[in-house]
Amino acid sequence: MDAEIIAIGSELLLGATVDTNSAYLAGQLAAAGVNLFRKSVVGDNTERIAATIREALARAELVICTGGLGPTLDDVTREAVALALGRPLEFRPELLEQIAARFAAFRRPMSESNRRQAYIPAGARPIENPRGTAPAFIVEDQTGTVIVLPGVPYEMRFLFTTAVLPYLRDERGVSDVILIKTLHATGLSESVIGELIADLMLQANPTVGISAKQARYELRIGAKAAAQAEAEALVATVEATIRERLGQHIIGDEPLAAAVVRLLAEQGRSIALYEGTSAAPIFQALAATTGGTERLRGVMIHPLDRPTDEHAAAALAHAGAISTADRWRADLGLAAQAASAPAASGFTAISVALVTPEGSRQVTRYYDLRQPEGWEFVGTLALDLTRRYLLGEPA
Ligand code: AMP
Ligand code: MG
Repeated sequence: MDAEIIAIGSELLLGATVDTNSAYLAGQLAAAGVNLFRKSVVGDNTERIAATIREALARAELVICTGGLGPTLDDVTREAVALALGRPLEFRPELLEQIAARFAAFRRPMSESNRRQAYIPAGARPIENPRGTAPAFIVEDQTGTVIVLPGVPYEMRFLFTTAVLPYLRDERGVSDVILIKTLHATGLSESVIGELIADLMLQANPTVGISAKQARYELRIGAKAAAQAEAEALVATVEATIRERLGQHIIGDEPLAAAVVRLLAEQGRSIALYEGTSAAPIFQALAATTGGTERLRGVMIHPLDRPTDEHAAAALAHAGAISTADRWRADLGLAAQAASAPAASGFTAISVALVTPEGSRQVTRYYDLRQPEGWEFVGTLALDLTRRYLLGEPA
């Protein structure tokens, strides 16, 4: 089954509200084995919503809309669905009773405008909403099926799992499973990874996709099959190929910082940091991970106070790693030091040093630190240096 999602609400177009409903629905549809080919966002305008629904129905069998079911006049999704499908709106007394019962339950008078919510397109099947006042509904039309859910995220999620999923499974025969497995990688550029697995990325099932964030990569393998075991087998084959081709650049199932923390814990080792900048990128990377600072003995933050070139930065990183390990009596000392000014290119030299009982290792890279995200690359670099040492890779 092919589906499209339409998120409705002018606040979404204004950037005032982030469309989290579509992301949730996309994840749910993927897990249910429903193909999702497009998501649209449209404002609260009857004609434009109707046109968007018609366009979606021309491409997909199932269209799921969220938002615009409130009692006020700016919520026009009911009217728009009726217009798109050429059906009148129909008053459903049982829906008004449900709404009235809800108001009675929290002992508030029901407004006249709540009557609007008891209208749904003729022939639609209502979905009772025990979490809110806006009833949802399903319209099975010869052009396709339109499912309309409220915009309030927790109401939408509740109705999706308790009513829509059972409807898709029991009445529409949706039974496939889509299994998504994420592998984390680092240490190569996105383009190099892309070239190493280009053939896999062109396959239809399993699909392989990459998303990049500050030199850390998530490789998503998605397999669709009639049964869980079959999907798992498809994923396993592709995973093995990816692991073989990317070798030590694959971190595994967990993100980089989590892998480092796990390895430190397994090996019973402690770590101390030297941060040559107040941005403290290594500490930030660890702190962003649950339990990420468990093996941390101490941190020295020592921003530069004099002009420092690339060579001086490397020397400071090395000395910093030694002094922080010594100061906090940690097994490992990890340091990052940037030069004080970027080169003409805008890129700044950064040196990362790791001091261990067996010796030290150090790398220098060039990053654009004019944007705050630049520092995250430094965290990635430092933690990957540590990960590789802990895995016993030669310096
Ligand atoms: P509505 O059903 O349009 O009256 O929306 C009710 C509430 O849900 C409002 O606070 C909206 O901002 C929020 N909302 C509507 N659509 C979405 C969406 N796609 N993602 C996240 N929140 C939403
Ligand atoms: Mg709205």
